[in-house]
Amino acid sequence: MQGCAFIADKWRPAADGRTIDMICPSDGAVIGAIARCEAMEVDAAVAAARAACGGAWARTPAADRGRILAKIGMAILDHAEALTTLEAADTGKPLKQARNDVLACARYFEFYGGCADKLHGETLPFLNGYQVLVLREPRGVTGHIIPWNYPLQMFGRTIGGSLAAGNATVIKPAEDACLSVLLMAEIAAECGLPAGALNVVPGLGEEAGAALAGHGGIDYLSFTGSSAVGTLVQRAAAEHHTPCALELGGKSPQIIFADADLETVLPVVANAIVQNAGQTCSAGSRALIHRDIYDEVMARLAERISALRVGSHAMDLDCGPVINRQQMQRVEGFMARAAESQIRVAAQGNIDKAAPETGFYVKPTLYEAVPPAHELAQEEVFGPVLAALAFKDEAEAVAIGNGVAYGLVAGVWTENGGRQMRMAKALRVGQVFVNGYGAGGGVELPFGGVKRSGHGREKGFEGLREFTVSKTVVINHG
Ligand code: NAP
Ligand code: MG
Repeated sequence: MQGCAFIADKWRPAADGRTIDMICPSDGAVIGAIARCEAMEVDAAVAAARAACGGAWARTPAADRGRILAKIGMAILDHAEALTTLEAADTGKPLKQARNDVLACARYFEFYGGCADKLHGETLPFLNGYQVLVLREPRGVTGHIIPWNYPLQMFGRTIGGSLAAGNATVIKPAEDACLSVLLMAEIAAECGLPAGALNVVPGLGEEAGAALAGHGGIDYLSFTGSSAVGTLVQRAAAEHHTPCALELGGKSPQIIFADADLETVLPVVANAIVQNAGQTCSAGSRALIHRDIYDEVMARLAERISALRVGSHAMDLDCGPVINRQQMQRVEGFMARAAESQIRVAAQGNIDKAAPETGFYVKPTLYEAVPPAHELAQEEVFGPVLAALAFKDEAEAVAIGNGVAYGLVAGVWTENGGRQMRMAKALRVGQVFVNGYGAGGGVELPFGGVKRSGHGREKGFEGLREFTVSKTVVINHG
């Protein structure tokens, strides 16, 4: 399976046998190789998916589709240890985090398996003598481009949803981490997913990714990744008027009011930036703290951040490495510029002595009193870097919270019921958590952004509907 694409139920190498080495971020070691697919393999994968749309998959009743997905969910649990080990080595994330990702992936297949036969259309009132039906049909062939930060979770949410709706899929996982997605193709086939319903074309973004985004044979495109690449992808999709969903980056605020229960707040806020080494689209990367409690919160947060330990995936500490050298240097660049701007470091975690020197480690860092216009308070760092800012009242919290180009998720911490609702309504984001953050993995919760965080929704039932298109049937029955 390594070094190959998965097309029409068969493993095949890229045309000239070209491969890309897979590097473990924990120590920089080569742990495998993937096929370097290009337009030719993408063409074959789209053709296989198209054939599935007119073949066995299209003829599979919704309940049976659901049963196959549920079976995949169970098989993920059966293979949990193998998937966990692979995901951890490939992404560098601590084993306990990888284990959670495996469970979330299984949950997506369970959830969408259960939804497959509950997706239905509507009837509408119309003129006398008419009956109007709004059918909900699969889009057809869906293309999926996913990032390296949560390969299994991304796979579950986007492929689970699309298959449940009856589509046939082609996925281009990220060059930096896609071994678990390849294993998933094998698992899905063993569970009876018909040939062509799922095709995997690993490779580079500018080759396989661009070929898929601009392919005239796909009916819908789901892209998850950076805002910059999202622009390229949407441009490529526009060539064929292919509808697309863009799940992009974020600069999500954690807004802590003076009446918040700090015992609950602090561990969640610290975890929301250190989880996956801060490489999470919904990372809570800004702590907006009411000025009356600013000093106390900073002192207590600093204590927590200083106690964090960073190490390899196998050491299974609080935080693993970032994905590659380039990402490490990018995060270090933000830190160097923060130092030049004299932004004070309030606390830093420790890289454990046993962490291999060849790994890509960054110390979790808390910055104090970051000016709202500074890049640390504006840009997605995608590392374990938390920017703290003070605010004086609700209006200022909303202004700072909304004062970035992104709009993905926000956390609001207050015991005041009226304020909870006012804040939830005033924040321009796709998801608001009140007195919690990122709870439960979010499988059931519609997710997506506004502004530079993208458009379209995945997860939950709403995500499922995006993988369908409506058709209006008007019958004049007299
Ligand atoms: P990225 O660089 O944008 O890459 C995402 C995917 O796009 C990868 O598979 C990449 O391929 C591919 N790609 C790159 N150039 C392409 C092109 N010209 N045409 C088509 N595809 C292309 O993002 P990343 O660095 O992997 O992931 C981090 C970003 O994803 C962050 O901004 C994060 O916030 C965002 N993200 C968003 C969500 C969400 O749900 N909103 C979830 C997770 C992550 P290669 O990597 O193989 O080159
Ligand atoms: Mg890797």
